[in-house]
Order: sequence, then structure tokens, then C-alpha cells
Amino acid sequence: MIQLAEIRRRQGDEEGRECLLLEAYRGLRGGQWPCNLATYRFFLAEIEAAVEFPPEIQALRGRPSGFEGDLAFAEILQREVVPPLRERLGLGLPGEKASPARFLTGSGPSGFLIAFRPLENISPARTYYGGYGWELGALAKQGLAGLAISAEDASGRILRIIDDGGRDVRSGDLSDIPQGALALSLRRYPLPWRFVFASSGLGDLSRTAARENLLYALLLGVIGVLMALGAFLLARDISREAEATRLKTEFVQTISHELKTPLTLIRLYGETLQRQPALGDKERLGAYEIITKESERLSHLINNVLDFSRIEMGRKEFAFRPGDLAETVRATLESYRYHLEKKGFAIKDEIASDLPESTFDSEAVASVLVNLLSNAMKFSPGTKEVGVRLRRDGGEAVLKVEDKGVGFPPGEAERIFQKFYRVSSKAGAGATGSGLGLTIVKHIVEAHRGRIEVRSEPGKGSLFAVYLPLRGPGEEAR
Ligand code: ADP
Repeated sequence: MIQLAEIRRRQGDEEGRECLLLEAYRGLRGGQWPCNLATYRFFLAEIEAAVEFPPEIQALRGRPSGFEGDLAFAEILQREVVPPLRERLGLGLPGEKASPARFLTGSGPSGFLIAFRPLENISPARTYYGGYGWELGALAKQGLAGLAISAEDASGRILRIIDDGGRDVRSGDLSDIPQGALALSLRRYPLPWRFVFASSGLGDLSRTAARENLLYALLLGVIGVLMALGAFLLARDISREAEATRLKTEFVQTISHELKTPLTLIRLYGETLQRQPALGDKERLGAYEIITKESERLSHLINNVLDFSRIEMGRKEFAFRPGDLAETVRATLESYRYHLEKKGFAIKDEIASDLPESTFDSEAVASVLVNLLSNAMKFSPGTKEVGVRLRRDGGEAVLKVEDKGVGFPPGEAERIFQKFYRVSSKAGAGATGSGLGLTIVKHIVEAHRGRIEVRSEPGKGSLFAVYLPLRGPGEEAR
């Protein structure tokens, strides 16, 4: 058409020439001829230089046409997109079929972020790719403009987008990154930028976070300790329970045994007396004695069991009355003296007579002494010596029962007062008992607001000391 216009010019048909050139101009801008951007621009410039445009077309000059935009885009595709695309496809990078693959192309603000994926069902013979390209400059200025918060924000928060060179991508200025700022990059979009977030409260935030971390660690520690404690208490409870069950079973066994022995003897001697009327005086007296002794043993045992069950149920009652403690001790010792002497025990007694009148349960105190004496007797298979001493010590009366028997190791001193507990030692193996005597003794002493102490050495003997306040329970200090 340009050549035709040239012919027209030579023919002197100026109007025809202009007409042709304008038509060519419109055709070129409208995309009538497929060409590349350079060809398009060349011919556009040629025509623009050769023709005087009428005013309605003059307005078009300098304004890029839609076709030019397409050409520019095609050229960008050709130059910036297709080669890296080919390269990537050649490498066979995974995942490109399923989700869009993205890459950066070009450099600086004129670069592009390209996202593409294969288009399916277009042609079986070829693969077509479709995608988008974002011009980085435009993306920074318009797309992300709403996101960034300027430094002047009243709240003191800053959100900046900076490039690899540390420049703010919107303003192009070198951007200082505040201390303690958070810099993030977008993982799924290979943008050459980082998002920098800073807040004046960020330092506080990290301090708060550290504090909370510490708090959580502490809490966790406390929970751990509590759990360990719980586990320990549970284990201890279980083992105590098991121990209590074992002790109870043992108790039932020993009690049955303890009941059976005197009963068998009583029955045996009772029957003997019944069947053999011609028994000599000596034998008869012996039989009576055994029956009496064994009945006493039985009643001592039964009294202890009854006392214990009353204590366990919280129903043990005391009859506190004013009286002479020395008198009670003396009388109890006298009633027991016979048993002791019969078994060959030497008794040393020192009972003070200067004790003032005090308030106590006479029967209970007698039971204390009987239990202590009975133990001293049971656990003294060798040296048969028992000491009973009562004296005043300040505001207290001290009752001591001492023996030279088998004793027990110091570690047992606490436990012998526990219910059913009996020291398992060879020395005391022959002794009978229920493991209740000292439990009852301790309960009685404590009911009198007193205390009991024990000192013992294996093979040397034991000393039990009972301290009873002379004012007696219920009386106020004067
Ligand atoms: P029991 O005498 O019926 O076994 P106790 O509660 O009276 O029960 O005594 C508990 C344990 O304390 C006894 O089994 C014995 O091992 C020990 N014990 C008590 N008194 C003495 C003592 N005088 N000498 C040695 N061991 C003793």
C-alpha cells in the first residue's frame, strides 16, 4: 500500500495517496497484517512522517493501539517467557501439570511474575499452555499499595515491601529496616521482595512472649512435679494398703492362735479335773493355777482387742477421775508381781510417794502398765529383770518400765506403736502377741495428754518411759 501511495504521488494524485496511506495507517493499527513490534513501529513511523493527518486521525497519533499492546506482549512472551518456559519444561520440573508453576522473568520493575499451566483438551497433538504475567512495577504500585502501611502510621506499625537491594519497591527509596522487624518472603510466589513488618510494640511483644514461655515452662514443670507426686502418693498408698492387708491377715492368724492356746490348756486341765477325781492335791492345784493363768491371758488378750476396736471406731471412752497415780501403779504392779516372780523375774520397783493428786483414768493407766510389763516379760528370755519406777519430774509423772531382754534396733522405735506391727527378729521369735498392745498404750497416754518414749538396744534390753501431766486432762494450767 505504501508503494501504491508512492505511485499515486508520482502520478500527482495527492488525495489518492493520502487516502491510501491513511487506510494503511488504520489497517496497521487495527492489526490487519501480522507482524512483529519492530516492523509495526517502523511502518507506523514511515506513514506518520509521510502524511498530514486530518484532525480526527491526528488524535490517534502517539496513542498506542490495542494491536501494539498485543505485539508488545507477544514480544515479551517471546523474549522473557518462552525461553525460561522451555527451559523449565525441558527440565521436567514436577508439579507443573497439577498446579500453576510460577517464575520470575526480566529484571527490576520491568520484570514479570509468570504463572502458567498446561491447558487440557485443546488438541491431542500439541500441548497448549495458558497463564498470566504480572508486571512487577505495576504489581508493586497498584496491587500491593493497599497492603503497605506508611511509616507515619499513628499506631507505629510499619509494613514495607522491599526488594533484594533493600529498596522500598513502591517509592524506590532505600528503606531502613527497623530493629526487631519481622521479614517474610512469600513462599508460593517467587517475588523478589520481602515483606517487612515492624511495630513499636514488637519489642514488648517478644518480651511478653519470653515471659509467657517461661510461665508455660514453669507451669509444665509444676504439672510434672504434681504428677510425679501423685504417682508417688498413689504408689505409697497402694503399698500401705497392701501392707495393712498383710498385717490384718497376720493379725487374724496370730489372734486365732493366741485364743486357741489358752483355750486348749483350759479345756485340757478342766477335763482332767473332771475325769480324774482321785487327782492329788498338788496336781489339782497346778491345774487350777494353769486354768486361772490362761484365763487371765485370754481376758488380757480380749481386753486388748476390744480396746483396740473401740479406739479404731473412735468409741473408746475414758473415765478421768482425781486420784493417786502412785496407788494405781502400785496396785497394778502387785497384781502382776505374782506372774513375774513365778516366771523367775526379779522386780525392782521405786514408786515415789510424793506425787500430788492428779486426774486420770485408773483402769486405762493400769492397762498401760500391764501391757508394758507383759511385753517386758515376753521379750526377756535371758536375763529376767524388770524395773518399774514412778517419780515426779516437774509438772509430770514419769513411769518407766525397763527390762534386760532382747530389745530391738533403734529404727523400729517408731513403728512398734503402729497397729499390728511386730518386730520380726530371731530373738523375739518365741513371743506371742497381737501387735496391739503398744498401739493401745500410746492411745491411752495421748488421751491423757502425755507422751511415750522408748530406748532400746538389741540384746541389751528396752526402756519405756511414759510421761503423764500431773494436772490431768481438762485442767487448765495454773
Ligand atoms: P505384741 O507384744 O502383742 O506383739 P505390742 O504392740 O505390745 O504387740 O508390741 C509390738 C512389738 O514391739 C512387739 O512385737 C515386739 O517386737 C516389740 N516390743 C515391745 N515391747 C518390747 C520389749 N520390752 N522388748 C523388745 N521388744 C519389744
